[in-house]
Amino acid sequence: MGRVPTKTEEIWADLLEGNRRFQAGKPAARELVSRRAALSQGQNPQVIVLACADSRVCPSLLFDKDLGDLFVVRTAGNVADPVALGSLEFAAEYLHSRVLVILGHEQCGAVGAAAAGEKPPTPNLESIVARIRPAFESVKGSPGTGRRLRLAERANVHLSADDILRNSPLLRAKVAAGNLTLIKALYRLRTGQVIRLPNEPRES
Ligand SMILES: [Zn+2]
Repeated sequence: MGRVPTKTEEIWADLLEGNRRFQAGKPAARELVSRRAALSQGQNPQVIVLACADSRVCPSLLFDKDLGDLFVVRTAGNVADPVALGSLEFAAEYLHSRVLVILGHEQCGAVGAAAAGEKPPTPNLESIVARIRPAFESVKGSPGTGRRLRLAERANVHLSADDILRNSPLLRAKVAAGNLTLIKALYRLRTGQVIRLPNEPRES
């Protein structure tokens, strides 16, 4: 492994470098056995990722990262519910992770379900869709079903970020103090590319 990046932008650049390797189908060589042994005494992941549970969106693979590099929390639609928030807080507070990537993706089934507007068959499924619905509400004036869906996928990333800042005083304080940086991103299924979204929804 090379030098470990420390500043936020260096950390992000390092993730993008890994993503480029993934896109090219040329992941870095791994020493899984020695890495596993080295990590058996503890972990110090610099990066937290909140991503969708979709089987095609695997953060460690798509950023070409190793054991111990990413603290990953995954929920359908990358919703930041209380358990997800607690998991993010755990990493930020006890593992001192510096960067939190909120990773949405194209063709997200959870966003699609929220867009469809049908009542999910169980209360648990409804709890996911209910959290995503505001993302779709925010773009429903846009023309074209496909375009609305694409905008909603982006809006849902912003929504998760807003939920994190609104509902976690701990994470909000860390962001305000400059000890944690939120990065909003979107994964493109076909190309494997991760793109960074602007901080403000209106620029998306
Ligand atoms: Zn999804």
